Amino acid sequence: MNFSTNSCIKKYPIKKIDTHTHTYFSFDCAEHLNSPDKMCAAAVAAGLDAIVLTDHIEVNSEAERIFTPFDRTTHRRQCEEAREKYADKLDVFIGIELGQATHYPDLAGQIVAEGNFDYVLGSVHNTKGERDPYYTDFTKLSYGRIIDIVDKYFDEYLQMTYLPYVDQCAHLTYPLRYIKAAGIDVDISLWDGKIAEILKSIIVHGKVYELNSVYVRKNVFLPEDRILQTYRDLGGTEIRLGSDAHYTDHVASGFDEAYELIDNIYKGEIK
Ligand SMILES: [Zn+2]
Ligand SMILES: [Zn+2]
Repeated sequence: MNFSTNSCIKKYPIKKIDTHTHTYFSFDCAEHLNSPDKMCAAAVAAGLDAIVLTDHIEVNSEAERIFTPFDRTTHRRQCEEAREKYADKLDVFIGIELGQATHYPDLAGQIVAEGNFDYVLGSVHNTKGERDPYYTDFTKLSYGRIIDIVDKYFDEYLQMTYLPYVDQCAHLTYPLRYIKAAGIDVDISLWDGKIAEILKSIIVHGKVYELNSVYVRKNVFLPEDRILQTYRDLGGTEIRLGSDAHYTDHVASGFDEAYELIDNIYKGEIK
């Protein structure tokens, strides 16, 4: 199989490329205006050199028919048209955000190979047998149950870092945000060991660590600084910003705040 490589994004300074963006090909995009064309126009307006379009493919959904199957043909055509249109202003990469690849690793590998994507984000939105934290009411769960959910999440996330076709490991703190948003305080240090293991795996397997800038900008929950410090202590240097924009005006949003966080820890060592 001809798996993708993260080398295509290496030349861009951190603040000049948004590596995590969604168009209306993602099932959770409410705005009908965020076509690949419009997202690229927004990237040009934001002063970026490059954008990676990373629409969702939830691998468990493709296997179990939860959402409408991803329309790969129309997606590819519209992304390529946008790439052509903005060629003199912006480099456009056609990527994908693969959710729950560990539930069906062979199918995930097949999707990546057939889709010929430039760049692959790996995400865990819901663990086996659990709902996506986005749709979970944490106020109705016991503290012990919440801890179990997060434990299971980090275990699956670690498995995801082993997958050969994943270039970038997305939003590591995903469930913690929704727990925090529900007004529940959890002590991130409970998972220091598991997080360090994940970061080591990201480094050893040559993956990119994603700093998801939306949550940095919103200051929803900020273990990101602790995690970045651990990542640096372990020797990690491959960091990329992703706005996770689901709307045109969110492209590159929070990049200044997120970059500041990186620079506080790396002191100009990475640009
Ligand atoms: Zn995601
Ligand atoms: Zn996303």
